[in-house]
Amino acid sequence: MVAVKNQRSESTEVETEHFLMVQRQFDESAQEMGLDNELHERLRFPKRSLIVTIPVRMDDGTLKTFTGYRVQHDVSLGPAKGGIRFHPDVNLGEVAGLAMLMTWKCALMGLPFGGAKGGIRCEPWKLSVGELERLTRRYTAEIINFIGPDKDIPAPDMYTNEQTMAWIMDTYSINVGHTVPSVVTGKPVSLGGSLGRQEATGRGVAFCAKRAVEQFGLDTKTPTVAIQGFGNVGSVTAKLLHEAGCKIVAVSDIDGGKYNPDGIDVPRLLAYVSEMGKVSEFSGGKTITNEQLLSTSCDVLIPAALGNQIHKDNVASLNCKIIVEGANGPVTPEADEYLEANKIIVVPDILANAGGVTVSYFEWVQGLMHLFWTEEEVNERLEQMMGRACKQVFDFSKKNKIRLRMAALHIGISKLAEAKRLRGLYP
Ligand code: NAD
Repeated sequence: MVAVKNQRSESTEVETEHFLMVQRQFDESAQEMGLDNELHERLRFPKRSLIVTIPVRMDDGTLKTFTGYRVQHDVSLGPAKGGIRFHPDVNLGEVAGLAMLMTWKCALMGLPFGGAKGGIRCEPWKLSVGELERLTRRYTAEIINFIGPDKDIPAPDMYTNEQTMAWIMDTYSINVGHTVPSVVTGKPVSLGGSLGRQEATGRGVAFCAKRAVEQFGLDTKTPTVAIQGFGNVGSVTAKLLHEAGCKIVAVSDIDGGKYNPDGIDVPRLLAYVSEMGKVSEFSGGKTITNEQLLSTSCDVLIPAALGNQIHKDNVASLNCKIIVEGANGPVTPEADEYLEANKIIVVPDILANAGGVTVSYFEWVQGLMHLFWTEEEVNERLEQMMGRACKQVFDFSKKNKIRLRMAALHIGISKLAEAKRLRGLYP
């Protein structure tokens, strides 16, 4: 535990439990690396935060208001970049914490972006397509002066997808009077999206899982894997690891999961979920809860749903050798300390799930150049960048005898700190 004195006399609205957890990781890292005090203070809070009220006409004719957020943590290296989440837990602190993680992630990957995040507090599964469209469009209109291809570029996150990005792009374009595809990434390929973007986060997670198994010498030809969350990230990770010869022994979604020690038939599960929806109703395995999924005996555990899933109260029940963080912030700092003490390797979110923002960067570049790459080119460049980042983090961790999270943060923060130092303080 580090004691970093907040130089602000008053506390700010962002300082929720979630935000303080992300800030604490930064404080620990800044202290360990001897970051300049002034730079440390400047990076502890987001640069800009916007809260908006979104009035929406519901299908039954009533009016409902929702709260939306967009937070930019830092923009020293380029436009801010980060996903938009629709979820009932969304609040200013969560969005600000996720924006800070995006800053370190982009810097670690060497991308010319700062970190941002956005979200709307809602229960997306209870909204019709029409309500979701009106909610997304009005949110976009409310944050329109905040975003733009040179300012801040949203992307999908939990419960948002290509269609959400198409609505944002269309609303933005209509309001500025011309088509601006580069205002978002993760949009459909037919609107200037990149081939490979939809799979990119899961591809990066699967890549990191394979590298970690090699690096930490797991004595097995068929690593066993359990995955929490079967949305964009979890399902693609499961598919690619299954194709790579891993045995996927457990998978879950919000309603529970399935366990099969002989290996789940992932192609059949993917087909089932795309038609029927729920993992827990699939026939190929024993039904389990999300808590049971986390304690499944396996080589690699991949949390790919919400944050704070592995915490001080359940960490001792884990039964894996490596955790690869597909989700953002799935392991709390207390759990991280326990895992380190018990020699369970954690490949941190800012490395493991960086494939999405990396291909978002490719999409932004292709859009600005009006020149599009093949899927093979996208995947090859992604693997090159993920490979370079993995090597840097693994080597740095080994050389300095620090855990992978601290190594990844150290590298990302150092790059950003150098840029901020050179730019100086205005005025
Ligand atoms: P998604 O909306 O496509 O899927 C979310 C999945 O999590 C669904 O299967 C849902 O049923 C499940 N889920 C929700 N609540 C759960 C709970 N309480 N217990 C277990 N499962 C639950 O979202 P996604 O895009 O796959 O994002 C998942 C995570 O990955 C998030 O933390 C997100 O921030 C992170 N992430 C996503 C991307 C991306 O490109 N989509 C990039 C980086 C990080």
